[in-house]
Amino acid sequence: MTPLLDMTFDQLRAAVTSAGLPAYRADQLTEWVYRKSVTDPAGMTNVPNALVERFDILTSDIADRADSKDGTVKLLLALRDGERIECVAIPAGRRHTACVSTQAGCAMGCGFCASGLGGLKRSLTCGEILEQIIHLSQATHRRVTNVVLMGMGEPLANYDATVAAIRAMIDPQRFNMSARRVTVSTVGLPQQIDRLAREDLPITLAISLHAPNDALRRQIMPAAEATTIAAILAAARRFHEARKREVTIEYVLLAGVNDTNVCAMQLARLAGTLRCKVNLIAYNDVAGLGYRAPGEVAVKAFAARVEKLGVNVNVRRARGEDIAAACGQLRRQAPPTE
Ligand code: SAH
Repeated sequence: MTPLLDMTFDQLRAAVTSAGLPAYRADQLTEWVYRKSVTDPAGMTNVPNALVERFDILTSDIADRADSKDGTVKLLLALRDGERIECVAIPAGRRHTACVSTQAGCAMGCGFCASGLGGLKRSLTCGEILEQIIHLSQATHRRVTNVVLMGMGEPLANYDATVAAIRAMIDPQRFNMSARRVTVSTVGLPQQIDRLAREDLPITLAISLHAPNDALRRQIMPAAEATTIAAILAAARRFHEARKREVTIEYVLLAGVNDTNVCAMQLARLAGTLRCKVNLIAYNDVAGLGYRAPGEVAVKAFAARVEKLGVNVNVRRARGEDIAAACGQLRRQAPPTE
């Protein structure tokens, strides 16, 4: 049978009634799984075990767990076919963010990111995307309040499963999150951004820009060959017009590559063409990729330069670096321990 997390609420209700059970059982199951993150039949006190056992609730297992000293928790999940993915829980005050993967591996091949090192293995199903939220909430004993589709993979290259998962996140009958607390991050696929803008999902769109001109972007991001910054930002503007949500521009600072004064000026000029805020992220180290992070002073100076040109800039603090859970460090296998 279709795994429970791959079903819409109506599909689950139909499955329950066609098994000869009263429809309210579907509401109960949904309440346990989506609201309380309870997946063990023994924990579902008002539901008969025989009902729960009819459904395939979790299809993945936790293969490894790492706890950062800053409270970030990273899980390595083994999927049913043996593929592996990582996801991360990031506590920040009252906020508890799940960073989830949309693909096992990634085809985008960005030169500074670990997720694409072994290429793309496969896209995840809607249920596999959602299971990560449940695993993270069980592992931390805390409800997830925000989701960022910023784990491994390119969400818009797995469009249907990603959109189905987002619908489950904001469905009042399922996860019931505010759409504003869901962020999709993309390398920038203009046609898919336009499709997303038509979905009536007032989520936050983040664009991984990382370079302020096409020539430099193509050097560090092979996927940039297929498009232009102008086309991506035009799609981002249309997304903003359709959904009325401010767009985020992400920019990983790589020392000596995209952190020059000229880059800061070019970035500010681009950012000035749409309603957005810029998130600067100092490069998180991935062994063997050959990049370096600029020092703290250089990061601040770059931020100040962009800000002075009238752009809303934020320097994103790395979380979970000690467990290789920070941006760009997720991969399909736990690195060998010494
Ligand atoms: N494929 C999507 C989703 C991944 S989001 C996308 O590219 O947006 C992960 C974010 O971390 C992206 O902005 C990515 O560019 C960034 N990132 C990748 N490698 C990084 C590194 N080594 N240090 C800091 N950020 C990195």
